[in-house]
Amino acid sequence: MRTVGFIGLGIMGAPMAVNLVRAGYDVVGYNRSRSKVDDFVANGGRGAPTVGEAVHGADVVITMLPDSPDVRAVSADIAAAASEGTLFIDCSTIRPDVAREVDEACAASGIRVLDAPVSGGEKGAIDGTLSIMVGGREADFADAKPVFEAMGKTIVHVGPPGAGQTVKAANQLMVAGNIQLVAEALVFLEAHGVHTGSAIEVLGGGMAGSKVLEAKAGPMTSRQFTPGFRAELHHKDLGIVQSAAREAGVTIPLGAVVSQLMSSLVAQGHGTLDHSALLKLVEQLSGRE
Ligand code: NAD
Repeated sequence: MRTVGFIGLGIMGAPMAVNLVRAGYDVVGYNRSRSKVDDFVANGGRGAPTVGEAVHGADVVITMLPDSPDVRAVSADIAAAASEGTLFIDCSTIRPDVAREVDEACAASGIRVLDAPVSGGEKGAIDGTLSIMVGGREADFADAKPVFEAMGKTIVHVGPPGAGQTVKAANQLMVAGNIQLVAEALVFLEAHGVHTGSAIEVLGGGMAGSKVLEAKAGPMTSRQFTPGFRAELHHKDLGIVQSAAREAGVTIPLGAVVSQLMSSLVAQGHGTLDHSALLKLVEQLSGRE
């Protein structure tokens, strides 16, 4: 397992692929926009002009693409170009049912599939400290473990095909709710004229402390909404959460509210901002823009 084909060199994929290079893997990257491939080559990787050429001869293929239709389309190209026994790890966040569909379609070509979405944001991808939630077969997970260890720190096999995506949906529900409450708390504190830096420091040491508070409260206070994680991608994920909850007959009232707020953020033309731009809506609703 030394040669990796890596498809999707965006905010997350690029640093993940670079960490694989640093761990000694021979990584061949492909991205739809060529400039991302050039950047990857400048960082020690090899570049390919097509999915097929990135995948040809690879022991492992990793995808880090935006959404379910992207993974569905690229997985067909992977199945056509990869050799039997190749391990295909999809790290994108997509619908659990599409993950199961991709697994079944690839199995017909003898390709082993793991759904392995990640959490930890751009910083986790750069630092190689991602949480990786893996669905698929136990033996394939064991084979992939060293590859995961080059990109992440908390790596857990959570169940059969699609289970990784189900856990990731729960992750996105919790993160969105947490960001919304941090946004409300910050606008509330500002309205009271409290020094937000001091408030964030003390809140971080108690029960209100969280990874979201740690990573996002500072930039939110200074209205820095450069992604990070684009609101339009979180909007996609909350759609996944809502339909998966409905499928299971589970009610997620706060999830539904935050999903509508994220939808409004995107509808107002802020989809390319970081998801922490939910703060803009709290200001708007409070008449404090
Ligand atoms: P991104 O848009 O920065 O990266 C996606 C990359 O895929 C882009 O470079 C795009 O050009 C490329 N691409 C799209 N379609 C392609 C195709 N058919 N063939 C080749 N390349 C193609 O997005 P991102 O933030 O890196 O997120 C990627 C995935 O990871 C998403 O599913 C997202 O939900 C998830 N995710 C993102 C974060 C984050 O903090 N950004 C964290 C965890 C998970």
